Amino acid sequence: MTDQYAVIGNPIAFSKSPLIHASFAQATGQEIEYRKIEGPLGRFEETVAAFRAAGGKGLNITAPFKLDAFAYASEHSPAALLAGAANAIKFDGERVLAENFDGVGLVRDVVHNLGHALRGKRVLMLGAGGAARGALLPFLAEQPTELVIANRNVDKAQALARLGASRGQVRGCGYDALVGERFDLVFNATSASLVGELPPVPATVFASAALAYELAYGKGLTPFLRLAQGAGVRQLADGVGMLAEQAAEAFAWWRGVRPDTRAVIGQLAIALV
Ligand code: NDP
Repeated sequence: MTDQYAVIGNPIAFSKSPLIHASFAQATGQEIEYRKIEGPLGRFEETVAAFRAAGGKGLNITAPFKLDAFAYASEHSPAALLAGAANAIKFDGERVLAENFDGVGLVRDVVHNLGHALRGKRVLMLGAGGAARGALLPFLAEQPTELVIANRNVDKAQALARLGASRGQVRGCGYDALVGERFDLVFNATSASLVGELPPVPATVFASAALAYELAYGKGLTPFLRLAQGAGVRQLADGVGMLAEQAAEAFAWWRGVRPDTRAVIGQLAIALV
C-alpha cells in the first residue's frame, strides 16, 4: 500500500499542501499519497486515530489543531516544545513524534531564498502568537545583533523574549516603544493581515535597505507591506517561501530526501503589487 500523508485543519479547502507535496514527490521520485482532511472541531484525536488505522504515516497540521497535535504526540522536538504546538507529526509504531518547522522554514526562506542574513542585523518581529514562538529560536540561532518582539499584549511579547534570553539579545515591548527605532529586517507575524488590518507599527521602523516580510501568504500587498513600500522599502516578501520551506522540512523528515522548493514557490507566488 502506498504511504499515506495528509494535512489536517478546519477549514482546509484552500490548503496548498497537497499541491506542494505532490510536486515534491514527483521531483524526488517518492511514491506517496497526500490528501486534505477537514477535521471536525473537538474531534482531533479520533480523526487522527482513523487516519493511522488506515495506514497513515504522517500529518501536516494547520489551524486550529496545532495545540491538539502537540498534546496528541508522545515525543516532541525542541522546536515543538518551545512553540507548545506541532505543525507536523510522524507515526512510528506506537510513537507519535511532533515537530514544528514553521520557524526553520521562515529562516531558510529569508537567508537562502531571499539572500538576507540575520547575523549582525537588527530584527523586529511583530506579534507573539504561534508563528512568532516558532520563529524565536531559529531567529536567535542566526545571531542577530538584537531581536525585538512587539505585540499589542505586551506581557506576551516579554514572556516570549524571556524564553529566548539565554540564546541571544532579545526583548519584548509594545508598539509605542518602537518610535525612533530602526530595523534591518521587519517581520509581520501578527494575524492582522488575514482581516485586512495593520498592526500599529510606526512607518519609521524600516532601515534604508530593510526587508519587510509578511508571514501571511496569497494576500498580495497587505496593509503591512503597503506601509513598508510607502516608507521606501524595496524588498518585500510574503510567506509563500516559508510555507514551501516548512513543507520541504516535513517531507525530508518523513521521506529522508529534501526536495528543492524553487518550482513550488514559482507556482504559488503572487505578485506583490
Ligand atoms: P496567532 O493567532 O497565534 O497569533 C496572532 C498574533 O497576531 C498575536 O500576537 C496577536 O496579538 C496579533 N494580532 C492579531 N490581530 C492584530 C492586530 N489587528 N493588530 C496587531 N496585532 C494583532 O496566529 P499565528 O501566529 O498562528 O499566525 C500569525 C500569522 O502568521 C498569520 O498571518 C498566519 O497566516 C501566518 N503564518 C504563516 C505561515 C506560513 O507558512 N507562511 C505559517 C504559520 C502562520 P495579541 O497577542 O496582542 O492578541
